[in-house]
Formats: sequence, structure tokens, C-alpha cells
Amino acid sequence: MSGMISRLRAVRRRMHYARQIVGKLGGVHPRDCNICGYSGLFKASGLPPRFDAECPSCRSLERHRHQYLWLKEHEGALRNKRILHFAPEPVMRKVYSSLAASYLSADIAGFADRILNIEAIDLPDESWDVVVANHVLEHVDDRKALTEIQRILSPGGIAILSFPLALTFEQTYENPAVTTRPDRDLHFGQWDHIRYYGADAAERIAAAGFEVETFSATEPYVHRHATTRGCRDYIARKR
Ligand SMILES: [Zn+2]
Repeated sequence: MSGMISRLRAVRRRMHYARQIVGKLGGVHPRDCNICGYSGLFKASGLPPRFDAECPSCRSLERHRHQYLWLKEHEGALRNKRILHFAPEPVMRKVYSSLAASYLSADIAGFADRILNIEAIDLPDESWDVVVANHVLEHVDDRKALTEIQRILSPGGIAILSFPLALTFEQTYENPAVTTRPDRDLHFGQWDHIRYYGADAAERIAAAGFEVETFSATEPYVHRHATTRGCRDYIARKR
């Protein structure tokens, strides 16, 4: 009897937990989208859900709005440039293509303007001024990719790079024993990721011939625009 009561209590606790989650999926606190100007509740995104993550108007996520904070301050450096955008996120594609003199989106497969392998980019040396690769490097051989990005950038050109980051890891975590989808999900946070970047991320990028700056957002922008706390973008300038 007492076993049944404790099971019922456990079910009730889970129901209560589930109701709390469902109640927040449509938004917790009103936010302002710095990309499209929408103000109001944001939707949850991801599994497990990240509350207040997605702008219902332009569908931007936390990291897009984070990058846009940097972009607004550096529009001049991007305007009328040749911009190559890997794995283009629709909302950022609009932003970058509206600034560029020429814009090309690229991906290993799918609906980009051009099918390109970032580890062996089929484009001439020094042919682009800006390369954007958000959440790409953690999927690929980043040493090859960064060397290729450096090769196709014009002198002084910049790469805008972002990826999942655990800054408390002194070294980027790679593990050759982790090869299966479940293991990659467990170790790296997603089945198709092959590393988790740590505090040495800037050094890894610099090794390919870049000067590296980082961009992190602070308050009040983090809560106002619902960006991720601790999010960091890397701006790599070709040496
Ligand atoms: Zn928006």
C-alpha cells in the first residue's frame, strides 16, 4: 500500500514538473529582439527546452542576437564586403546578405547557394573579405577548415566564428575513442559534434595564421535580448 502511495506521489511530482515546463514554453519574461525589433514573449527552443530562446517574429535564437550585438558595432567593417557564409542560418543570411557587396552561402549539402566542403574549399586564394561560420567548426577537422578559411580570405580579412564553448575546460576536449552517435551526444553534446571547445579556442584559431579577438555580451543586453550568458564569438583577422 505504501509502495503504491509513493509511486502515486512520484507521478504527481512529475506531472507538476511537466506542467511547469509546458507553462513556460510560450515565454517567461518579455524581451526585445535586437534583430527585427519585436518586443514581447519569446518561445522556447531545443530539447531540453531553453526558455525565452526564439524570437517569434524573425526566429532568431540567443546566439544570433548575441552576434548581432557585435555586428551593429562593426557594420562599417562588413558593409560592401565580399561575405561567404557557411551553414547559413536564415536570419543571419538576411543580415549578412543585406550588408554585403557580394554574398554567397555555402554548405556541405542542402539549400545553400553553393555546395562547399569547409575542409577543402573550392574557391580561389584571397577571394573573400569576410567568412562567417557559426556552429560549424565543432563538426569538422577545424585545423583544415581554419587553414582553408585563412587561404581564401583577402589580406586583413576576417572570419566570424562561433561554436559551443566550455570555458572552464582549459583545453578543448577531443577523444578519438568517441566515435558512435550516442557517445558523441554524451561527450560532446550532439551526435555529430567531434569536440567541445575550451579556453584554448583562441589559440587553436590563431595557429592557422589569425589575430583573434573575442566578443562577449554583458548586461543589460544579455537579459534584454535573451542572449546566452557566457556566449563568446571569435573574430579572427588574417595576419
Ligand atoms: Zn526578432
